[in-house]
This record gives sequence, C-alpha cells and structure tokens, in this order.
Amino acid sequence: MLIFAAMTNPYYSIRMHAERDELHLSGAERLVPAAAVERVTQELIGRAFNTPPGAVRISVDLVDSSRIVFGAIPDVTLVPKADYLQGRQQAVGALIESGVQEKSALAALAAIAAGASPDGHAMRGAMLVDAVSGERLEPDRHRGVRATRLDIMADAEVSLHEELHASGLQHLRTREALVLAAKVLAAPGVVAELCWSDAADYTAGYVASQQVGYRRFPNLKQTGDLLGGRAFFVRPGFDLDATVAFLQQTPFLVQGHGRVKQMDEMQ
Ligand code: AMP
Repeated sequence: MLIFAAMTNPYYSIRMHAERDELHLSGAERLVPAAAVERVTQELIGRAFNTPPGAVRISVDLVDSSRIVFGAIPDVTLVPKADYLQGRQQAVGALIESGVQEKSALAALAAIAAGASPDGHAMRGAMLVDAVSGERLEPDRHRGVRATRLDIMADAEVSLHEELHASGLQHLRTREALVLAAKVLAAPGVVAELCWSDAADYTAGYVASQQVGYRRFPNLKQTGDLLGGRAFFVRPGFDLDATVAFLQQTPFLVQGHGRVKQMDEMQ
C-alpha cells in the first residue's frame, strides 16, 4: 500500500545548502509528498540558520514517482567507545572486511582527516575512491558527489525512531546518515562507505557495506575538529556516470530497516 501511495502521489526533492564566505555550512536533502513540502522547507531553513549563513539555497523539484527505488537500512552495530585513533583503526578493519584494500582505506581516511577539499576544508559531498588503488575519482574535488533525492517513508521512520531510541540514538544526524548509507549501498559499483561529521561537537562516524551493515564508531575524531567527510569506495572499472546518476538523480525511499545491536552481542 505504502509503495503504491508513493507511486501515485507527486513527490518532491527538497535540497538545502547554506554557506558563508564560500565555505559549506550545512546541507540537507529530503524527498517528500507534495503535502509536506511547505513544512519540511521551513524546517530546513530553520536548520540553515543554526549558524548565521551568508546564503541559503533551497531547491524544490518534482521527481518522477514511477522511478522511485525502494530500499532498506541495514542492521546497525554499535562499537564500544574507544579513543579516535583506535576508532580509526577499527574503521579501517571494517573497510577491509568489506573488500576495500588497506591502502585505499588508509588513503581515504588520511584525505578526510586532512580536509579533502583542495582548500583544506571539508568537501560539500563525498569522494569517490577506487577500492583497490585508493585513487580519487570524483569529477569535482570541492563539491564531490552528493547523494540526494532520498528519504524514509513515514511508517518506517516511526519504527526506526523506536529502534534507535531504545539504544539512546535519538540524534537527527544518525537517522539521516542511515538513510544516506542505505542509498549509497544501493548504488551500482559502490563497495562501502566511510563517514564522519564535519560538525565540531559530533565525533561519531561509521563504515557501511553489505558485509558489515552499518557499523557505528562513537569517536572517529576529536571534539572541536571541523574536518569530516565521506568516501564512497567503488569497484575498479565501475561506471562513473551510472553511479553518479543513481546517487544524484534517482529518487530513493527507505521502506524498512534492520535491528540495532551492540558489537559484543555479535561475538
Ligand atoms: P555531516 O554528517 O552532515 O556532517 O557530513 C559530513 C560530510 O559528509 C560533509 O562534510 C560532506 O563532505 C559529506 N556529505 C554530507 N552530506 C552528503 C551527501 N548528501 N552526499 C554526499 N556526501 C555528503
């Protein structure tokens, strides 16, 4: 029924980007039914003003509902707290389990830690990193590739909220990152994702892949660090245009999710 509803109602992609002095401040992407556009746009403008912006850009675009791809959030595994250097080592381990070569994992991690944009700041979007050689393949190193036109359906959101809340994960960022990871893992050619935030007070990050699901590390950086980013690891020989088109153009809705588990339960 829900899927039918999504295909017969007009859906709109809403994108928000806030910047100041040409520096990326915040961004968000949603995919909502027409009736929710006004409310969600207001929410995003509110969020853009959390840090006084120089400019805020909002785009609202009708999507072709018949092209919506439906997907699911994988199981979430919570790794016990460790310092950020141990966390980074564990993240490299998770990437290797996912089929990424160590050299490639280390190269991506070092790029994010140093500020992956050519100006030494965080990028607006993600790097595309060859999972074997570690070569960066995104066409624009400032902007990167942004996963857009993605969201979670209302029923799945309620149930995900309950599942996350039971583990003390009520932060909006966590829910948004889970939806983003679900789309990234559904993209053709993508092997795994590595992420940590560029927000000074948010130190958690994750590795996502078919092999490890969504593995969350409480610390992948030190508090106060403004550098963060995302790497989408791709198979050698992948089709760049198809991957970028899926991430940026194909509408994607999460309709289900896995369970949240502690790392210890898994062993
Ligand atoms: P955030 O988790 O929002 O702090 O984002 C952390 C980093 O991930 C940002 O600095 C960007 O480099 C990247 N990023 C944020 N949103 C997206 C997106 N929609 N698609 C790809 N990369 C993103």
